[in-house]
Amino acid sequence: AKEQGRSRYHLYTSSMDEQAFRRLTMENSLRKALQREEFSLYYQPKVNIKTGQIVCLEALVRWQNPEMGLILPNQFIPLAEDTGLIIPLGEWVLRTACAQNKTWQLLNYPPMRVAVNFSPRQFQQPRLTDMVEQILGEADLAPCWLELELTENVMLQNVEKTVQTLNRLSNLGIHISIDDFGTGYSSLSYIKKLPIQTLKIDRSFVHDINTNADDAAIAIAVITMAQSLRLNVIAEGVETLEQMKLLDGLNCPEMQGYLFSKPLPVAEMTTLLSNIKWP
Ligand code: C2E
Ligand code: CA
Ligand code: CA
Ligand code: CA
Repeated sequence: AKEQGRSRYHLYTSSMDEQAFRRLTMENSLRKALQREEFSLYYQPKVNIKTGQIVCLEALVRWQNPEMGLILPNQFIPLAEDTGLIIPLGEWVLRTACAQNKTWQLLNYPPMRVAVNFSPRQFQQPRLTDMVEQILGEADLAPCWLELELTENVMLQNVEKTVQTLNRLSNLGIHISIDDFGTGYSSLSYIKKLPIQTLKIDRSFVHDINTNADDAAIAIAVITMAQSLRLNVIAEGVETLEQMKLLDGLNCPEMQGYLFSKPLPVAEMTTLLSNIKWP
Protein backbone atom coordinates (compact mmCIF):
# COMPACT_ATOMS: atom_id res chain seq x y z
CA ALA A 1 0.00 0.00 0.00
CA LYS A 2 2.91 2.26 0.82
CA GLU A 3 4.48 1.54 -2.58
CA GLN A 4 1.22 2.36 -4.28
CA GLY A 5 0.81 5.53 -2.31
CA ARG A 6 4.28 6.63 -3.25
CA SER A 7 3.88 5.95 -6.94
CA ARG A 8 0.56 7.71 -6.99
CA TYR A 9 2.20 10.66 -5.29
CA HIS A 10 4.91 10.56 -7.89
CA LEU A 11 2.37 10.59 -10.70
CA TYR A 12 0.59 13.47 -9.07
CA THR A 13 3.71 15.62 -8.78
CA SER A 14 4.90 14.88 -12.28
CA SER A 15 1.56 15.88 -13.73
CA MET A 16 1.69 19.02 -11.61
CA ASP A 17 5.14 19.73 -13.00
CA GLU A 18 3.84 19.20 -16.47
CA GLN A 19 0.96 21.57 -15.87
CA ALA A 20 3.27 24.21 -14.41
CA PHE A 21 5.62 23.69 -17.32
CA ARG A 22 2.86 24.06 -19.89
CA ARG A 23 1.66 27.18 -18.17
CA LEU A 24 5.15 28.65 -18.19
CA THR A 25 5.62 27.82 -21.87
CA MET A 26 2.30 29.39 -22.68
CA GLU A 27 3.09 32.46 -20.59
CA ASN A 28 6.38 32.94 -22.44
CA SER A 29 4.70 32.52 -25.82
CA LEU A 30 1.93 34.87 -24.78
CA ARG A 31 4.47 37.55 -23.86
CA LYS A 32 5.96 37.37 -27.35
CA ALA A 33 2.68 36.97 -29.21
CA LEU A 34 1.86 40.67 -29.40
CA GLN A 35 5.17 41.69 -30.98
CA ARG A 36 4.99 38.69 -33.30
CA GLU A 37 1.51 39.72 -34.40
CA GLU A 38 0.01 36.33 -33.64
CA PHE A 39 -3.36 37.71 -32.54
CA SER A 40 -6.26 38.42 -34.81
CA LEU A 41 -9.87 39.40 -34.39
CA TYR A 42 -12.92 37.51 -35.60
CA TYR A 43 -16.26 39.30 -35.81
CA GLN A 44 -19.73 37.96 -35.07
CA PRO A 45 -22.92 39.87 -35.97
CA LYS A 46 -25.71 40.81 -33.58
CA VAL A 47 -28.96 40.91 -35.49
CA ASN A 48 -32.15 42.87 -34.96
CA ILE A 49 -34.82 40.23 -35.52
CA LYS A 50 -37.56 42.60 -36.67
CA THR A 51 -35.51 44.46 -39.27
CA GLY A 52 -32.99 41.73 -40.06
CA GLN A 53 -30.25 44.32 -39.80
CA ILE A 54 -26.85 43.80 -38.25
CA VAL A 55 -26.69 46.27 -35.38
CA CYS A 56 -23.27 45.35 -34.09
CA LEU A 57 -20.25 43.16 -34.70
CA GLU A 58 -18.62 41.59 -31.65
CA ALA A 59 -14.83 41.29 -31.82
CA LEU A 60 -13.49 37.96 -30.53
CA VAL A 61 -9.75 37.49 -30.22
CA ARG A 62 -7.89 34.49 -31.69
CA TRP A 63 -4.30 33.45 -31.10
CA GLN A 64 -2.46 31.66 -33.90
CA ASN A 65 0.81 30.33 -32.52
CA PRO A 66 3.34 28.64 -34.87
CA GLU A 67 3.98 25.78 -32.41
CA MET A 68 0.62 25.43 -30.68
CA GLY A 69 -1.71 26.26 -33.57
CA LEU A 70 -5.00 28.09 -33.11
CA ILE A 71 -5.76 28.84 -29.48
CA LEU A 72 -9.21 29.99 -28.36
CA PRO A 73 -9.63 32.79 -25.81
CA ASN A 74 -10.86 30.56 -22.97
CA GLN A 75 -7.43 28.91 -23.08
CA PHE A 76 -5.38 32.11 -22.76
CA ILE A 77 -7.52 35.01 -21.50
CA PRO A 78 -7.41 33.72 -17.89
CA LEU A 79 -3.61 33.46 -18.12
CA ALA A 80 -3.44 36.92 -19.67
CA GLU A 81 -5.53 38.17 -16.75
CA ASP A 82 -3.25 36.53 -14.15
CA THR A 83 -0.07 37.88 -15.71
CA GLY A 84 -1.38 41.36 -16.50
CA LEU A 85 -0.78 40.79 -20.21
CA ILE A 86 -4.48 41.44 -20.66
CA ILE A 87 -3.74 45.17 -20.42
CA PRO A 88 -1.60 45.48 -23.58
CA LEU A 89 -3.62 42.76 -25.32
CA GLY A 90 -6.88 44.49 -24.47
CA GLU A 91 -5.55 47.78 -25.84
CA TRP A 92 -4.55 46.03 -29.03
CA VAL A 93 -8.03 44.49 -29.37
CA LEU A 94 -9.73 47.83 -28.81
CA ARG A 95 -7.45 49.68 -31.23
CA THR A 96 -7.81 47.02 -33.92
CA ALA A 97 -11.59 46.75 -33.58
CA CYS A 98 -12.10 50.53 -33.70
CA ALA A 99 -9.83 50.89 -36.73
CA GLN A 100 -11.62 48.02 -38.50
CA ASN A 101 -15.03 49.52 -37.83
CA LYS A 102 -13.82 52.81 -39.27
CA THR A 103 -12.56 50.97 -42.34
CA TRP A 104 -15.98 49.37 -42.88
CA GLN A 105 -17.62 52.77 -42.49
CA LEU A 106 -15.26 54.26 -45.06
CA LEU A 107 -16.21 51.43 -47.42
CA ASN A 108 -19.77 52.73 -47.06
CA TYR A 109 -21.38 49.82 -45.26
CA PRO A 110 -24.23 51.06 -43.09
CA PRO A 111 -22.69 52.01 -39.75
CA MET A 112 -22.78 49.37 -37.02
CA ARG A 113 -21.31 49.29 -33.56
CA VAL A 114 -18.27 47.19 -32.86
CA ALA A 115 -18.34 45.41 -29.49
CA VAL A 116 -15.22 44.70 -27.46
CA ASN A 117 -15.05 42.37 -24.44
CA PHE A 118 -13.42 43.74 -21.32
CA SER A 119 -12.40 41.43 -18.50
CA PRO A 120 -12.52 42.61 -14.87
CA ARG A 121 -8.82 43.37 -14.59
CA GLN A 122 -8.88 45.47 -17.74
CA PHE A 123 -11.79 47.40 -16.39
CA GLN A 124 -9.93 48.13 -13.14
CA GLN A 125 -6.88 49.55 -14.94
CA PRO A 126 -6.00 53.14 -14.13
CA ARG A 127 -6.91 55.81 -16.71
CA LEU A 128 -9.14 53.41 -18.60
CA THR A 129 -11.41 56.16 -19.94
CA ASP A 130 -8.43 58.22 -21.15
CA MET A 131 -7.13 55.18 -22.98
CA VAL A 132 -10.50 54.48 -24.60
CA GLU A 133 -10.93 58.13 -25.62
CA GLN A 134 -7.46 58.23 -27.10
CA ILE A 135 -8.02 55.08 -29.14
CA LEU A 136 -11.36 56.38 -30.45
CA GLY A 137 -9.58 59.61 -31.41
CA GLU A 138 -6.78 57.79 -33.21
CA ALA A 139 -9.30 55.70 -35.15
CA ASP A 140 -11.49 58.75 -35.79
CA LEU A 141 -14.47 56.66 -34.70
CA ALA A 142 -17.46 58.30 -33.02
CA PRO A 143 -18.04 56.82 -29.54
CA CYS A 144 -21.59 55.76 -30.44
CA TRP A 145 -20.08 53.08 -32.71
CA LEU A 146 -18.26 51.42 -29.83
CA GLU A 147 -19.81 48.99 -27.40
CA LEU A 148 -18.13 47.49 -24.36
CA GLU A 149 -19.22 44.08 -23.08
CA LEU A 150 -18.60 43.63 -19.38
CA THR A 151 -19.52 40.73 -17.13
CA GLU A 152 -21.30 41.21 -13.82
CA ASN A 153 -18.11 40.21 -12.05
CA VAL A 154 -16.66 43.59 -12.99
CA MET A 155 -19.06 44.99 -10.42
CA LEU A 156 -17.73 42.82 -7.60
CA GLN A 157 -14.59 44.83 -7.00
CA ASN A 158 -15.59 48.34 -6.08
CA VAL A 159 -19.11 49.42 -6.90
CA GLU A 160 -18.54 53.17 -6.41
CA LYS A 161 -15.50 53.18 -8.66
CA THR A 162 -17.22 50.98 -11.23
CA VAL A 163 -20.23 53.30 -11.40
CA GLN A 164 -17.91 56.28 -11.78
CA THR A 165 -15.98 54.69 -14.65
CA LEU A 166 -19.17 53.50 -16.37
CA ASN A 167 -20.64 57.00 -16.10
CA ARG A 168 -17.58 58.47 -17.79
CA LEU A 169 -17.68 55.95 -20.62
CA SER A 170 -21.41 56.29 -20.99
CA ASN A 171 -21.20 60.09 -21.06
CA LEU A 172 -18.80 59.81 -23.97
CA GLY A 173 -21.63 58.01 -25.80
CA ILE A 174 -20.23 54.49 -25.61
CA HIS A 175 -22.77 51.65 -25.48
CA ILE A 176 -22.39 49.40 -22.41
CA SER A 177 -23.64 45.80 -22.26
CA ILE A 178 -23.68 43.29 -19.44
CA ASP A 179 -22.39 40.03 -20.91
CA ASP A 180 -23.33 36.53 -19.70
CA PHE A 181 -26.14 38.07 -17.73
CA GLY A 182 -27.45 35.79 -14.99
CA THR A 183 -24.26 33.79 -14.53
CA GLY A 184 -22.34 36.18 -12.27
CA TYR A 185 -22.22 36.56 -8.54
CA SER A 186 -23.56 40.04 -8.08
CA SER A 187 -27.04 41.00 -6.94
CA LEU A 188 -29.64 42.53 -9.19
CA SER A 189 -29.88 45.73 -7.20
CA TYR A 190 -26.87 47.24 -8.95
CA ILE A 191 -28.53 47.13 -12.36
CA LYS A 192 -30.61 50.25 -11.89
CA LYS A 193 -27.59 52.19 -10.62
CA LEU A 194 -25.58 51.59 -13.75
CA PRO A 195 -25.63 53.57 -16.99
CA ILE A 196 -25.97 50.49 -19.19
CA GLN A 197 -27.94 49.93 -22.38
CA THR A 198 -28.10 46.19 -22.91
CA LEU A 199 -28.45 42.89 -21.07
CA LYS A 200 -27.01 39.90 -22.85
CA ILE A 201 -28.69 36.57 -22.01
CA ASP A 202 -25.97 33.97 -21.59
CA ARG A 203 -25.94 31.14 -24.10
CA SER A 204 -26.18 28.57 -21.31
CA PHE A 205 -29.84 29.62 -20.93
CA VAL A 206 -30.46 29.60 -24.67
CA HIS A 207 -29.04 26.16 -25.43
CA ASP A 208 -31.97 24.12 -24.01
CA ILE A 209 -34.55 26.87 -24.00
CA ASN A 210 -37.04 24.78 -26.01
CA THR A 211 -36.92 21.81 -23.66
CA ASN A 212 -35.89 23.11 -20.26
CA ALA A 213 -38.59 25.09 -18.47
CA ASP A 214 -36.11 26.55 -15.98
CA ASP A 215 -33.93 27.99 -18.72
CA ALA A 216 -36.99 29.42 -20.46
CA ALA A 217 -38.13 30.96 -17.16
CA ILE A 218 -34.77 32.68 -16.73
CA ALA A 219 -34.85 34.03 -20.28
CA ILE A 220 -38.37 35.33 -19.72
CA ALA A 221 -37.32 36.96 -16.46
CA VAL A 222 -34.37 38.75 -18.08
CA ILE A 223 -36.44 39.93 -21.05
CA THR A 224 -39.24 41.17 -18.78
CA MET A 225 -36.81 42.94 -16.50
CA ALA A 226 -35.05 44.57 -19.45
CA GLN A 227 -38.39 45.80 -20.78
CA SER A 228 -39.46 47.35 -17.50
CA LEU A 229 -36.05 48.98 -16.97
CA ARG A 230 -36.14 50.18 -20.59
CA LEU A 231 -32.99 48.29 -21.46
CA ASN A 232 -32.17 46.54 -24.68
CA VAL A 233 -31.81 42.76 -24.51
CA ILE A 234 -29.99 40.27 -26.72
CA ALA A 235 -29.80 36.47 -26.63
CA GLU A 236 -26.45 34.90 -27.50
CA GLY A 237 -25.69 31.39 -28.70
CA VAL A 238 -28.80 31.08 -30.90
CA GLU A 239 -28.12 28.03 -33.05
CA THR A 240 -31.51 26.77 -34.22
CA LEU A 241 -34.68 28.10 -35.81
CA GLU A 242 -36.64 26.72 -32.85
CA GLN A 243 -34.61 28.78 -30.40
CA MET A 244 -35.03 31.85 -32.58
CA LYS A 245 -38.80 31.43 -32.87
CA LEU A 246 -39.24 30.91 -29.16
CA LEU A 247 -37.12 33.97 -28.30
CA ASP A 248 -38.92 36.03 -30.94
CA GLY A 249 -42.20 34.98 -29.35
CA LEU A 250 -40.87 36.28 -26.05
CA ASN A 251 -40.15 39.61 -27.76
CA CYS A 252 -36.40 39.35 -27.54
CA PRO A 253 -35.43 42.03 -30.07
CA GLU A 254 -31.83 41.05 -30.83
CA MET A 255 -29.99 37.76 -31.28
CA GLN A 256 -26.53 36.43 -31.99
CA GLY A 257 -25.30 32.95 -32.72
CA TYR A 258 -24.29 30.37 -35.28
CA LEU A 259 -27.79 30.44 -36.81
CA PHE A 260 -26.97 33.89 -38.19
CA SER A 261 -23.20 33.65 -38.50
CA LYS A 262 -20.18 32.19 -36.76
CA PRO A 263 -17.41 34.61 -35.82
CA LEU A 264 -15.59 35.40 -39.07
CA PRO A 265 -12.17 36.80 -39.94
CA VAL A 266 -12.11 40.28 -41.52
CA ALA A 267 -12.05 39.17 -45.16
CA GLU A 268 -15.01 36.83 -44.74
CA MET A 269 -16.96 39.35 -42.70
CA THR A 270 -16.38 41.95 -45.42
CA THR A 271 -17.71 39.50 -48.01
CA LEU A 272 -20.75 38.84 -45.83
CA LEU A 273 -21.36 42.60 -45.47
CA SER A 274 -21.08 43.00 -49.25
CA ASN A 275 -23.62 40.26 -49.91
CA ILE A 276 -26.31 41.68 -47.64
CA LYS A 277 -29.15 43.47 -49.39
CA TRP A 278 -29.22 46.59 -47.28
CA PRO A 279 -32.56 48.37 -47.14
P1 C2E B 1 -18.30 35.65 -24.82
O1 C2E B 1 -17.99 37.11 -24.81
O2 C2E B 1 -19.49 35.20 -24.05
O3 C2E B 1 -18.40 35.27 -26.35
C1 C2E B 1 -19.29 34.31 -26.87
C2 C2E B 1 -18.57 33.02 -27.19
O4 C2E B 1 -19.52 32.09 -27.71
C3 C2E B 1 -17.51 33.14 -28.28
O5 C2E B 1 -16.49 32.18 -27.99
C4 C2E B 1 -18.27 32.75 -29.53
O6 C2E B 1 -17.43 32.29 -30.57
C5 C2E B 1 -19.16 31.69 -29.01
N1 C2E B 1 -20.40 31.57 -29.77
C6 C2E B 1 -21.03 32.50 -30.52
N2 C2E B 1 -22.17 32.02 -31.05
C7 C2E B 1 -22.29 30.75 -30.61
C8 C2E B 1 -23.28 29.71 -30.82
O7 C2E B 1 -24.29 29.89 -31.50
N3 C2E B 1 -23.05 28.55 -30.18
C9 C2E B 1 -21.97 28.32 -29.42
N4 C2E B 1 -21.83 27.13 -28.85
N5 C2E B 1 -21.02 29.26 -29.20
C10 C2E B 1 -21.18 30.45 -29.80
P2 C2E B 1 -14.95 32.56 -28.07
O8 C2E B 1 -14.69 33.43 -29.25
O9 C2E B 1 -14.17 31.29 -27.94
O10 C2E B 1 -14.72 33.45 -26.78
C11 C2E B 1 -14.87 32.93 -25.50
C12 C2E B 1 -14.80 34.01 -24.44
O11 C2E B 1 -13.51 34.62 -24.40
C13 C2E B 1 -15.75 35.17 -24.71
O12 C2E B 1 -17.05 34.81 -24.28
C14 C2E B 1 -15.12 36.28 -23.90
O13 C2E B 1 -15.49 36.18 -22.55
C15 C2E B 1 -13.65 35.96 -24.02
N6 C2E B 1 -13.03 36.84 -25.04
C16 C2E B 1 -13.03 36.72 -26.39
N7 C2E B 1 -12.36 37.73 -26.97
C17 C2E B 1 -11.95 38.55 -25.96
C18 C2E B 1 -11.21 39.78 -25.91
O14 C2E B 1 -10.82 40.37 -26.92
N8 C2E B 1 -10.98 40.30 -24.66
C19 C2E B 1 -11.43 39.69 -23.53
N9 C2E B 1 -11.15 40.28 -22.35
N10 C2E B 1 -12.12 38.55 -23.54
C20 C2E B 1 -12.38 37.98 -24.74
CA1 CA C 1 -19.11 38.89 -25.18
CA1 CA D 1 -21.43 36.08 -23.51
CA1 CA E 1 -18.98 33.91 -21.90
